[in-house]
Amino acid sequence: MKGIQNLKLVKKRVLIRVDFNVPLDKNQKITDASRIKAAIPTIKEIIKKSGTVILISHLGRPKSKDPKLSLKPIAKKLSELLCQKVVFSKDCIGEQTLSDIKKLKPGNIILLENLRYYKEEEEGNVDFAKKLSSLADVYINDAFGTAHRAHASTYTITRFFKNSRYCGRLLEKEITNLDLILKKSKNPFTAIIGGAKISSKIDIILSLLEKTDTIIIGGGMAYTFVKALGGSVGNSIVEEDKLVLAKKIIQQAKEHSVDLILPVDSINSASFSNNEKTSSSDIYKIPKESIGLDIGSKSISIFKKHILSSKTVLWNGPMGVFEFSKFANGTKSVCQAVCDSTYGGAFSLIGGGDSIAAAKLCGLSEGFSYVSTGGGAMLAYLEGKSLPALKALS
Ligand code: AMP
Repeated sequence: MKGIQNLKLVKKRVLIRVDFNVPLDKNQKITDASRIKAAIPTIKEIIKKSGTVILISHLGRPKSKDPKLSLKPIAKKLSELLCQKVVFSKDCIGEQTLSDIKKLKPGNIILLENLRYYKEEEEGNVDFAKKLSSLADVYINDAFGTAHRAHASTYTITRFFKNSRYCGRLLEKEITNLDLILKKSKNPFTAIIGGAKISSKIDIILSLLEKTDTIIIGGGMAYTFVKALGGSVGNSIVEEDKLVLAKKIIQQAKEHSVDLILPVDSINSASFSNNEKTSSSDIYKIPKESIGLDIGSKSISIFKKHILSSKTVLWNGPMGVFEFSKFANGTKSVCQAVCDSTYGGAFSLIGGGDSIAAAKLCGLSEGFSYVSTGGGAMLAYLEGKSLPALKALS
């Protein structure tokens, strides 16, 4: 993959695929602009080189041209962040877009409307990719969050820029940092995997067995492991069809001499809400009518000990239902421990929307060595899978 450092761009139109798939509230207000901020180094570099910046992105999963998923508010936010005008085009292909682009001068920026207003984007459609490619002379992919997708704007399009496709600064930074985990991690290496279900994290757990010394399991998925070991987990979330697999993972961890650490206690509630009285119990003896929604204090102490003695820490997925204040303590404590470990010299990397949201909730998003903008893409890269968008750039 070629980087953008040696690009000569005077009077060139540069199409940059960014990942502006940001969270919005009910009023289309951006609740977290991290992904927009992350794209700024590449944009600034292209402006400095006197290129004309044409930004393309998707936002959400619109079924049709849903105005609630327009990129217009993002153009405004980007303009505020850059202190520079950002033109917004109401479409991403066609006459109007072409005419909007023709009015631009070197150093100007335009953001085009949501790519996913066209179903052809996700289909990887060649004609759609060709239309997008006709807007510019040079293509840069800086959208790590979608690098695991073979879409028109991330994959198909590269065939129309055979000698002029490049890897943006963010994409480069993501790969450098993920490679520190994948290829250069120092031991002891601890991975903390949480979240609702095992099913979405099987591949990453299996691949981490090859690399880590310790895997800490928290969140909803821990209850499937505990049940597989014969524990009583009440009404906690359990994937019945993954019980055999959970047992197999425990066995494989032993074969790889990896310490697979499960919680020992649980914070429980009578219902899935923040309104009930909470109680704590041994995680293997949760009362029949209770639901485990967070890890308990004994688990936190054990997890902390491992995290603080690690030289590499990877964290993906919360330890409990952190969205409810009564069940956020486990996630907050683990978050704090990862930051303390980083302060003590460990390399830490976190990723996945929920882990980042949890870190923000704790006011600790600055305390990690690297925060990846990718969720699915980060996991796929760490699993050793080939990411279509990266392959297409090389
Ligand atoms: P994931 O997207 O798989 O990383 O899962 C994140 C979600 O897992 C968050 O929305 C949490 O609320 C949820 N979660 C964490 N712990 C539990 C639990 N004990 N029971 C149910 N959901 C949980």
